Amino acid sequence: MKNNAIVFLLIAITLLTSSTPIPTSDFKVKTVIIDPGHGGKDPGTQGKFTKEKDLVLDVSLKVGGYIEEYLPDVKVIYTRTTDNFITLKGRPKIANDNNGDVFISIHANALPADVSAERKNAIYGTETYVMGAQNTGRNLEVSKRENSVILLEEDYEKEYDFDPSSPESAILFSLTQSAFQYNSIKLATKIEDQFERRAGRRSLGVKQSSLYVLWSTAMPSVLVEIGFLTNPKEEKELNDPSIQGNIASGIFRAFRDYKNEIESLN
Ligand SMILES: [Zn+2]
Repeated sequence: MKNNAIVFLLIAITLLTSSTPIPTSDFKVKTVIIDPGHGGKDPGTQGKFTKEKDLVLDVSLKVGGYIEEYLPDVKVIYTRTTDNFITLKGRPKIANDNNGDVFISIHANALPADVSAERKNAIYGTETYVMGAQNTGRNLEVSKRENSVILLEEDYEKEYDFDPSSPESAILFSLTQSAFQYNSIKLATKIEDQFERRAGRRSLGVKQSSLYVLWSTAMPSVLVEIGFLTNPKEEKELNDPSIQGNIASGIFRAFRDYKNEIESLN
């Protein structure tokens, strides 16, 4: 009953907002939300010597630094700038409360622990996710891992009406993010393109997954997996400050090109 009421409400909101003409005359990308994954008691995934929460904070601060330096008219809001814990719900709340125009969540990837060393050596590269309900294979693993922080939160059963495998959730996902899906894919494609052509990374492409932080942000949103901590070579590379700089400037250039393209449609 509760779920039905929420579905109804969201359908109503979606219909209302989609029938409102989009103001195109002076639209500017003014505020970007940068979301370093995990933090505090949630380390994220771990390599042999790297914690995801530390690595992604370093890269996120570099991305924000480039934006502040080269696009001074854009306001950069971080969901965290230190090693502190934020609830999964807290991240989109920061984004929505600050009227973000774009949400970029930065993470590092991993294969499950029981995967063979041979496979861990073979799988590396970047992936950028947009919201979607196509939870199969590895996309499902990523959504389970990146959503699992909910379990570290007290009262999570009360706080989250969220079950990525339920049909209601699938409907909600397609409704809430569909308005932003086109632009999310546009930005995600630019990021992966930058990684492949300019940053010297191997791009595994743009993918879809049911990720809570993408689902609940009211703006185009992407989640970038900058590489696999379960791949020994890539783990080492990701700790190299110059490679971190390449990755961060790739995300920056993709954001800049996205902003220019969106604003040129005015
Ligand atoms: Zn993560």
